Amino acid sequence: MIPPKPTPWESAQWRAEMRGAFRSSQDLLDHLGTTLKNIDTRPEFPVMVPRPFAARIEPGNPGDPILRQVIATSTERETVPGFVVDPLEESAVETPGLLQKYAGRVLLVTTGACAVHCRYCFRRHFPYDAHREHKLDSAITAIEQDRTVREVILSGGDPLVLADTAMSDLFERLGRIDHVERLRLHTRLPVVIPSRITQALMDAIAAFPGAVSVVIHVNHPAELDDDTHRALNCLRATGAMLFNQAVLLKGVNNNPDVQVALAEKLFQQGVIPYYLHLPDRVAGTSHFFVDTDESLQLHQEITEHLPGYLVPRLVREIPGEKSKIVVTDAPRLIASERTGAL
Ligand SMILES: *Cc1c(COP(=O)(O)O)cnc(C)c1O
Ligand code: SF4
Repeated sequence: MIPPKPTPWESAQWRAEMRGAFRSSQDLLDHLGTTLKNIDTRPEFPVMVPRPFAARIEPGNPGDPILRQVIATSTERETVPGFVVDPLEESAVETPGLLQKYAGRVLLVTTGACAVHCRYCFRRHFPYDAHREHKLDSAITAIEQDRTVREVILSGGDPLVLADTAMSDLFERLGRIDHVERLRLHTRLPVVIPSRITQALMDAIAAFPGAVSVVIHVNHPAELDDDTHRALNCLRATGAMLFNQAVLLKGVNNNPDVQVALAEKLFQQGVIPYYLHLPDRVAGTSHFFVDTDESLQLHQEITEHLPGYLVPRLVREIPGEKSKIVVTDAPRLIASERTGAL
């Protein structure tokens, strides 16, 4: 197999693709020639679907696994006991824009904006206004002052929504902090708008003095095509390590064949599956929920069909724990369930 050449895109294209995204469920359905009865025309969390991503949705198929991730339906308005606005208790933080839950690494919220609005998102209710870009200075100062921070994780929203100049400026500032050895980017952009990968972005990543990893977010193999392959090759050409995190979603990827195909296609495009997250109990997302028993069974099946290096860790986040909980680590999970944390 000869992979596509790591040729980046011109910088004007991705901006145009951000502006041209579908912003209504009906426009998207009309474009696809698909009929769905229960769409929500005024959802609380607005619709946003860039055209390169929409192009991978099968026209006329109301059950398409990509469509299901991005279309707003009236089921989001149902209130279900136990599904709450902030299940991970992220709103209460000391330094705005900085989330430190785990030793040695901090999550830096760079922007509240994303290039796609995923209906299941656990940050769909996040108070981004309290974490605006102008707070970046105080967050960087806090990182400078805390010598235990060895890894900075740029998150959001989606950090790659920032312009190339802002990106490289931020990378330079973080690169000057001696104790920051690693930089990690959590982003869905290389997949939803592959043209985001410009020469300037590649240069900024390559110039970072420490080790860089990029964690993309793909839930279904249909999200990957020749353009994502080209974008991911560009990222790999910078020397960055590429990982994927997915969320286990009912009606999208809660099927062992889909998970196996996803892992294999990711690897073909140069990406190692990292985490498979159990969905959090977020208000408005109960229709995606998969319970622990079903998840364990599915994970067992994929483990039997894949080499170990392609099996993602099945994880759940529990507030107050010192890491994400690996669900297959049964004793720890059961202990947590007993204390009523789940
Ligand atoms: C998931 C997460 C991390 C990263 O955890 P890893 O196990 O290192 O991938 C860091 N900070 C926060 C707040 C997180 O939610
Ligand atoms: S890209 Fe990430 S943060 Fe943005 S809506 Fe999707 S899951 Fe949420």
